[in-house]
Amino acid sequence: NQTIPHWLEKQFELNPNRPAIEFENGEVLTFSELRKESRQAAAGMKELGVKAGDHIALLVTNSRQAPIFIHAFSYIGAVGVMLNTRLTPTELAFQLEDAEVTSLFAEESLYQQGKEAIQTTSLTQKDFHTLEDCPRLSEESELKSTLHLEDPFTMMYTSGTTGQPKAVVHSYGNHWFSAISSALNLGLSSHDKWLLCLPVFHVGGFSILMKNVIYGMPISLFASFDEDKVNQQILHNQVTIVSVVTVMLQRLLDNLEERFYPSAFRCMLLGGGPAPKPLLEEAHDKSIPVFQTYGMTETSSQISTLSPGDAFRKVGSSGKALHTADLIVEAEKPGEVGEILVCGPMVSDGYYKHQERKSPWLRTGDLGYLDEEGFLYIVDRVKDVIISGGENVYPAEIESVLTGIRGVKEAGVAGVQDNQWGEVPAAFLVMEPEAEADVKEMYEYCTLHLAKFKIPHSFHVVKELPRNASNKILRRKLTDTLKDGE
Ligand code: AMP
Ligand code: MG
Repeated sequence: NQTIPHWLEKQFELNPNRPAIEFENGEVLTFSELRKESRQAAAGMKELGVKAGDHIALLVTNSRQAPIFIHAFSYIGAVGVMLNTRLTPTELAFQLEDAEVTSLFAEESLYQQGKEAIQTTSLTQKDFHTLEDCPRLSEESELKSTLHLEDPFTMMYTSGTTGQPKAVVHSYGNHWFSAISSALNLGLSSHDKWLLCLPVFHVGGFSILMKNVIYGMPISLFASFDEDKVNQQILHNQVTIVSVVTVMLQRLLDNLEERFYPSAFRCMLLGGGPAPKPLLEEAHDKSIPVFQTYGMTETSSQISTLSPGDAFRKVGSSGKALHTADLIVEAEKPGEVGEILVCGPMVSDGYYKHQERKSPWLRTGDLGYLDEEGFLYIVDRVKDVIISGGENVYPAEIESVLTGIRGVKEAGVAGVQDNQWGEVPAAFLVMEPEAEADVKEMYEYCTLHLAKFKIPHSFHVVKELPRNASNKILRRKLTDTLKDGE
């Protein structure tokens, strides 16, 4: 179990006065200040009885207190169970019980949600604290000065688009290697400033807090995503890297209009789900360096990413496995679609209370293929594949085509029973506010871009697509609206 100096202690030694976190209101915390406040919160948590090894749940938005409490866990050696603020009290209660949480810390604004959540759990009011009420004590109390790479640091529930949520356990080493491997791919410059507008309770957002203290790199922490504010940061506030998901990129592009990003802006890291071709082409036309990346909670964020040199040459690809990681596609022949398997020191050993994985390879449940140069293309999730007349049909491919139709804002595709073909694809569309859905036109557009067996047999206009708390489309739920007689 290798030991390294606590990463925030290290930054205190190396870069005490460097800006660590900028907030939207203009406030800046240096590494020295971030360390001090984190240690004071840690001492306060200890006073409330938190001990090394305890599972402590954190219910926070991207607030000023979020990074402070996350680092406080590491100063105590407690395991942070990161709760998704979009969950219902019942869903939260399940996670609190499942993760064997002994106390819950919630932001003041989420007090009610936390209070309701603990009702049906073994937690009592005395195990429930707000961050605001947690005492800040002298940082001289005994705190950890080192981190053991194999020790658990966080637990995060997988989004569960296909089954019961399970807690992924991340060690310090998982987070460490994730940050290091990302830097070996993207490079690291002393001018870098990474904008964090993804929720910190998801691994994609959380990983930026790790890069912050591991690289000694300033970040700009956003309470939530706002396309205008994010564009302002890139255009005028020297942000060089932003991590986004597809919908965010679309909104940034719409908001950007005729403007262009400065050349110092070097990376729009795009991940979390499929990226429709028209969107990537639009970004390409605006010379935006979009780096597609593939990863999941289990891999502590990125596991494969397109390199800067290939960003424009391989539009649509998620690149190659990062340094220290490996990736294979389980297929008969190169170039064929198969399940993606990954391994590396950023891959979690397993899920809490589930059997540990025997093999070093993690089966991702995702389908992809490698091109002749070994670049990965994600196709879809194994469980979402529609088998129509013996042909495999991938919803993501059809969705990508559908979003290219004028007036279509979002598209979801799922299989419906069919007597002749077994299953056929059905399209669910959210239209732009003023747009009319012309089914005949849509059908014709599809015949130009898709093989016959992939063309949706029906088109349904809906107000919104069912999504889980991580904003991923729940394809299995798309067809529920049909059963309701829509
Ligand atoms: P989560 O477990 O919530 O972090 O979600 C991870 C899942 O998101 C993966 O297993 C994929 O299904 C999907 N995903 C992530 N990155 C990509 C990508 N670049 N393209 C398509 N799907 C992706
Ligand atoms: Mg998953």
